[in-house]
Formats: sequence, C-alpha cells, structure tokens
Amino acid sequence: MAEFAVSPRNQVKRVPARASYDQATIYQIIDQALVCHVGFVQDGLPSVIPANHARLDDVLLLHGAQASRLMQHVGAGHEVCVAITLVDGLVLARSVAHHSLNFRSVVLFGRGAIVDEEQEKLRALKVLTEHILPGRWDEVREPSQSELKATAVVSIPIDSASAKVRCGPPADDEEDYQLPIWAGVLPLQQGALEPVDEPGLSAGIPVPDSVLNYNR
Ligand SMILES: Cc1cc2nc3c(=O)[nH]c(=O)nc-3n(C[C@H](O)[C@H](O)[C@H](O)COP(=O)(O)OP(=O)(O)OC[C@H]3O[C@@H](n4cnc5c(N)ncnc54)[C@H](O)[C@@H]3O)c2cc1C
Repeated sequence: MAEFAVSPRNQVKRVPARASYDQATIYQIIDQALVCHVGFVQDGLPSVIPANHARLDDVLLLHGAQASRLMQHVGAGHEVCVAITLVDGLVLARSVAHHSLNFRSVVLFGRGAIVDEEQEKLRALKVLTEHILPGRWDEVREPSQSELKATAVVSIPIDSASAKVRCGPPADDEEDYQLPIWAGVLPLQQGALEPVDEPGLSAGIPVPDSVLNYNR
C-alpha cells in the first residue's frame, strides 16, 4: 500500500495542503519519534496517555505494566487514536497572529490486541528496544520469564492514518512585510548530549558504540 485510503475519519480538513496520506511519509514520522500519545474513550470519558512506541511493518507496538490501564484497555481490543509529533522549528512572524511551528505529525487509528505468544512478545520487545536505541538489544540481558510475565505488549494494526507537515517561513499579511520586525524560522532538532555513567557502573566499562553513535 503506497497511500492510506482517505475517509471521513482521517481526511485533513483544516489546511488540507499540508496533508499527506503517503505511507512512507507517515512511517518515517512514526519511526523518528520517541513518544506517541494514545487517545481512547473509556466509560464515556476521553483519556490521552503518552507512551513509547515502535512500528513493526504495519503495526504499532506499545508495552507497559500488566496492571496499566492503557495496556488493559488497548489489549482488550478497543479502538484507539494515536498522535505522533515532531517539532522542527519556531515560525516567527511579524505579527502575533502568524506565529506557528514547523512540524511533522501523524494521527492514526486502529484497534488494539494483546501480544501474548512468547516468541512474538520477545520480538515485539526487541523492536521496541531497538526503536529507542538501535543495537541495544544485543548489548543487554534479555527479559527473564518473570519480567516477561509482568510486561504487557499490545499491537495496533494501523488501519487508517494521515500526516500533516508544515515547513518553510512564516506567511505574514502583505502590509506587515514593511514592518521593522525580524521574522524567520528558528530550526529545532532533538540531539544527544554527553552520556552520563550510572553511579554504580563498574570501572572499565566503556560507553558502547550504540550510545556513542546515537542519532535520531
Ligand atoms: C506541533 C503542532 C502544533 C499545533 N498547534 C496548533 C494550535 O496551536 N492550534 C491549532 O488549532 N492547531 C494546531 N496544530 C494543528 C492541529 O494538529 C490540527 O491539525 C488543527 O487544529 C485542526 O484540527 P481539526 O480537528 O479541526 O482537524 P481536521 O482537519 O478536521 O481533522 C480531521 C482529521 O485530519 C487528521 N489530522 C488533523 N490534524 C492532524 C495532524 N496535525 N497530523 C496528522 N493528521 C491530522 C486526523 O485524522 C483528523 O481526524 C498543531 C499541530 C502540530 C503538529
């Protein structure tokens, strides 16, 4: 599938010129983001909960404690809406009204399911770990049986999705371009700082390449 089908649910109505339904664009945003926000309705009340995520083919994976309300609700097969956002810059116009952000965002819809089979669950946990830091899974101890039991993994097949992307300079009103006010974009990016050793780290253990080479 090269494009997600456009339906009343996922069709971007507000500023549709910024919309994309291109699967590659959508998956790139999902894969670059560390955090998603999962929206769901329980007992008639809406909740939005932030979480780590990872994508495995056309499925979004989440994990958490077995006791987590989020895991239980999504795992029970309910419909969810997930928002994923990357902020690329501050858009600074001459007028207050035209200030904005440059961004790439995704809104996706799907119905969750629990991932229970042991090998599938391990694979999902590996994908989730590697999403945070590629190479980490092979550097660390794998989960024990009791850790696996205490961890819930849920999958959300991405049934429908859209991206919205704003890029470029601010757009001021014609008469404002003559004002003596600086306008432009302050680009932002997520970057890693120096790694910090855990206080109990044994002497002589170097920072692994996965950490040294981290780049998102
Ligand atoms: C970092 C960031 C900051 C923003 N700040 C503001 C703000 O301050 N005020 C404001 O009004 N809007 C803001 N937006 C835009 C906002 O996300 C919505 O697109 C906009 O408010 C229109 O909402 P709506 O429900 O009327 O959209 P509609 O176009 O009616 O939404 C219909 C469908 O389009 C899709 N869709 C809508 N928005 C997005 C999106 N952002 N990404 C992917 N798919 C989408 C969804 O599937 C949605 O169900 C911001 C977006 C981002 C990413």
